[in-house]
Amino acid sequence: MNLPGTIAAVASSAIRSAISVVRISGKDAFSIADKVFTGISGKKLSACPGFTARLGKICDNKNKEIDEVIATVYRAPKSYTGEDSVEFSCHGGEFIVKRILEAVINAGAGIAQPGEFTRRAVMSGKLTLTQAEAVNEMICAQNDSAHNAALSQYDGALLRRINSIKTKLARLSAEITADLEFPEDDIDRTDISVKIEKLHTIKSQLEETIASYDQGAVLRKGVPAVIAGKPNVGKSTLMNLITQKNKSIITEYAGTTRDIIEETVDIGGLLLNIADTAGIRETGDDIEKIGVGLARKRISDSQLVIAVFDVSEPLDSEDFDFAAKLDKTRTLAVFNKSDLAPQAKITRLEFEHHIYMSAANAESPDELYRKISEMVVDREFDPDSGIIFSLRQLECAKRASVSAAEAVFALESGLEDAAAVCTETAAAALMELTGERITETILDEIFSKFCIGK
Ligand code: GDP
Repeated sequence: MNLPGTIAAVASSAIRSAISVVRISGKDAFSIADKVFTGISGKKLSACPGFTARLGKICDNKNKEIDEVIATVYRAPKSYTGEDSVEFSCHGGEFIVKRILEAVINAGAGIAQPGEFTRRAVMSGKLTLTQAEAVNEMICAQNDSAHNAALSQYDGALLRRINSIKTKLARLSAEITADLEFPEDDIDRTDISVKIEKLHTIKSQLEETIASYDQGAVLRKGVPAVIAGKPNVGKSTLMNLITQKNKSIITEYAGTTRDIIEETVDIGGLLLNIADTAGIRETGDDIEKIGVGLARKRISDSQLVIAVFDVSEPLDSEDFDFAAKLDKTRTLAVFNKSDLAPQAKITRLEFEHHIYMSAANAESPDELYRKISEMVVDREFDPDSGIIFSLRQLECAKRASVSAAEAVFALESGLEDAAAVCTETAAAALMELTGERITETILDEIFSKFCIGK
């Protein structure tokens, strides 16, 4: 970490593009920029007010021209980092960008570490730590839901949620401490059962916050899903319907799909990471056996199992064995080939979630998408209420929850002094989550996951 020097990095992606941005931030940003940049107006960047853009040329330290650029000036504290900053928007060639960065480094800037601009924004109070973490989420967002969830964290939803729990903990801790320090003052003493009740409320709010991690992960990373069933029941046909692609090979011959075929599909804002697998059956073929083993593993690892059955054939013992091994709560049974057996009734296979359809003849996957969403999306879940989205935040919240549970136990055992310590420990864990109490090592760890230039 270069703090408090002046740093520079390429802020745009490393691929060839129309425009790239080289960013400089720190107290010497203007003097360094003036060494490499000559504006066509002749005016120095150090003399420009904030939020102005100037056209000019960038030259290296031998005065050789590198590119014509637009320089944008940001004056502290009105910049991303809160420091004086300059951004050069140059032509997006990899070589040009590298040469401009070299020129800026030669003029006195240090090379920025991953996430160092954002870290500086946190240090200067422009962003809270949870907002900074949300910046990374925004960059990584792949669909509407993930993007909206990241935006809401950037707006401070998680911070508000945690702060509200922290305030309750602080009030309770103060009450317990006051009752301990002034035991004779009976009038204002809060009854112990009331304190226990308050702690239970705090604990359940912490548990809800912890649960938001898994729900948020569904929005951000998608749902691991698998299509499984006996050979020839129509798994590949269904895969192609769901993904709207012809990636899986469809044949009338059993045992064609052996490798796992994977695809990510956005079904109305929900990402489904879906895999088509080898048909599950007893087989003497060694290669097919490997495929069946992979399919079984994928079934146990998936959050959603789409189990396909062929209703045009009588059910056999393999169908029943396969159905018996499935966890029904996370299985959607697809009773396929309804066109061949319009009257078929699958009375002997009981699945809470099921659909009777023809994968080969369905005009659209919408009905299937609706069933899938119903199963995996928690309708009660509101991303705007604040989502835990990193393992670091999750670990802090879990520690706070354990301390809250210990505080309940201490109060129930009449140990008010121990309860006071536990509530303070819980609050301290939440202060770590928000970044109010955090070590340099943890900050290093957080920002190492960022890209250079962010
Ligand atoms: P998989 O082995 O389970 O992946 O099954 P496939 O998707 O390769 O399909 C096996 C055979 O069943 C192919 O000939 C498909 O055209 C056919 N098939 C799949 N779905 C349907 C359906 O809904 N109706 C009918 N009539 N045939 C289907």
